[in-house]
Amino acid sequence: MEIRTHDGAHRLDVAQAERLVRQDERARLAAQGTTTVPQPAEVQLLHAALTLLPAGHPVAPIAGEACRAFDHATPPHGQGVACGRCWEYAIRCDERVVVEFGLTKDDEKPDPSYVDEIAVARFMDGESLPLGEPERWEVTRRMRAQGHGPWAISDRLGESSQAVRRRLDALAGRAQGSTPVVGVTDEAAQVA
Ligand SMILES: [Zn+2]
Repeated sequence: MEIRTHDGAHRLDVAQAERLVRQDERARLAAQGTTTVPQPAEVQLLHAALTLLPAGHPVAPIAGEACRAFDHATPPHGQGVACGRCWEYAIRCDERVVVEFGLTKDDEKPDPSYVDEIAVARFMDGESLPLGEPERWEVTRRMRAQGHGPWAISDRLGESSQAVRRRLDALAGRAQGSTPVVGVTDEAAQVA
């Protein structure tokens, strides 16, 4: 798997990371498991990018389930769905199905729910630039992690504190493992 970062720095776009895994899995299938083994630093980069995949991603339930089954710790910088290894595992499984059934997921455009990491980083550095909804969620999550309250977050984002509170409630629910996309689990139902 050859990994090239899009901006020359040690960053890997999340959509690019998913494409790399899918391409590698295709190559692996075609070559009967003889692709080049990536360097550990590259794998770390890849996994860090994959943790940014959103909870609404089609393979999120598989990734999350695998991560819980393996008792992995969820990395603090990601979306809290699964660790990078389990995202990679889930994407490879999915790509095998795509190949087996001759689907054309390969040519699909990147999911609009991907977070623009560069825009978020610039915004967090104090720059004022328009943000889409996925980026607003990510800024909310990061500012909360830095200890900011709803008022400070809504002031920075220029939106109502109610909107921010709704987002924070949803994020808190996700952190407890009740991902709305997967559906309500028995445990979550008991809590509610
Ligand atoms: Zn995991």
